[in-house]
Amino acid sequence: MGKTKAAASMGEAGWSHARILQALYDLGPLSRADLARVTGASRSTLTALVQQLMDQGLLAEQESRPSSPSGGKPSRPLWISPQAPPVAVAHLLPGRLECALVSAGGQLLARVQREFTPGSGDGEAATAALLDGLRDILARTATPPLGIGVAVGGMVDTDTGTVISVALAPELDGLPLAAILRAELGAGLGTGLGTELVCVDMHPRAQALGDRWFGQGRGRSRFASLYTGEALGVGLVLNGEVHRGPAGTGGEIGHSIVQLDGRACHCGQRGCWETVAGHDWLRAEATRLRLPGAATLTAGPLTRLAAAEVPHAAELVERWAANLSAGLVNLHQIFAPGLFILHGDVAAGGEQLRGRIEHHLHARIPSHPAGPPQVALTALDDDATLLGAAGLVLSEQLRAMKGTAR
Ligand SMILES: [Zn+2]
Repeated sequence: MGKTKAAASMGEAGWSHARILQALYDLGPLSRADLARVTGASRSTLTALVQQLMDQGLLAEQESRPSSPSGGKPSRPLWISPQAPPVAVAHLLPGRLECALVSAGGQLLARVQREFTPGSGDGEAATAALLDGLRDILARTATPPLGIGVAVGGMVDTDTGTVISVALAPELDGLPLAAILRAELGAGLGTGLGTELVCVDMHPRAQALGDRWFGQGRGRSRFASLYTGEALGVGLVLNGEVHRGPAGTGGEIGHSIVQLDGRACHCGQRGCWETVAGHDWLRAEATRLRLPGAATLTAGPLTRLAAAEVPHAAELVERWAANLSAGLVNLHQIFAPGLFILHGDVAAGGEQLRGRIEHHLHARIPSHPAGPPQVALTALDDDATLLGAAGLVLSEQLRAMKGTAR
């Protein structure tokens, strides 16, 4: 079957197809028997539905698993076909952007970088760099992508796909990103939904979708995905969906207040979590303690200084971990996500820093029979945001498939 037809069929397929695809994204590769159990469909109905999805080039059988010790037949798990339409994605940061092609099964197929001058006030140059990077990516696939997903390092109106504000890159403020991408690149996308699918969201929420679809959040209905480094951000998944609030109003957890009358924050408030747990705080404290490389200190070098028993380094690790845990305590008390996945610079602090953050989190919350929340290092390295930008499009596509057949 033609590749374009496969793209279109994602939109034409109904609720039953969407349920099968959702179950695979939730649980990973599954046999037909497992899929029948999970979706509640009869074996014969399920076999027919799976065949339709295979004919459309969306599903494929993987290598067979060995038979069970009890002597069951070897099963061939089903997973998203490498021939399924991919997703074009971008991660837009102050001065730098990364574009990539992600397969519907979560493989990074290609990536390119572009730069622009942050703070120049030249919004057109930033837009041109983004369009150039995405055109480069679109030229690398013969199959029209399902859509474009963009993660932005700032606040976004997720209803309209408009950037509200990006600290350090004000030229992006107010940019109607989704509208621009639809107008300039829409013709190159699959039209399964009868419209060009362009999704724009803030970076920590896209990152959470990366965990949800392709990382440790798979199959979990609740967890929090944290970005930690020069800024702090969180994407929260509740009831299996990323939590946005109306038009994406929530999520600026770095600017939740942890210290009344605390230090001034670049956001204009005082005592934000970021002012006691971000890089600015870390470097100011390292300078005061006369640690080597204080002005550019990050988690990796700090934990190495502590391991080498450089005076005051271990003490700073401990205080940083305690300050980082403060925001997690608040998130736990309000949402109880159960799992906090660490991304960004703090993940470079490895097990030492993760363990101390978890220790301080547990010490600051009451015990409960349900057990304490876990803190984990990401398994997706730096790719979570790009994969999550694909997750934005895949989520929207599945929602539309379910909706159109209801
Ligand atoms: Zn702030």
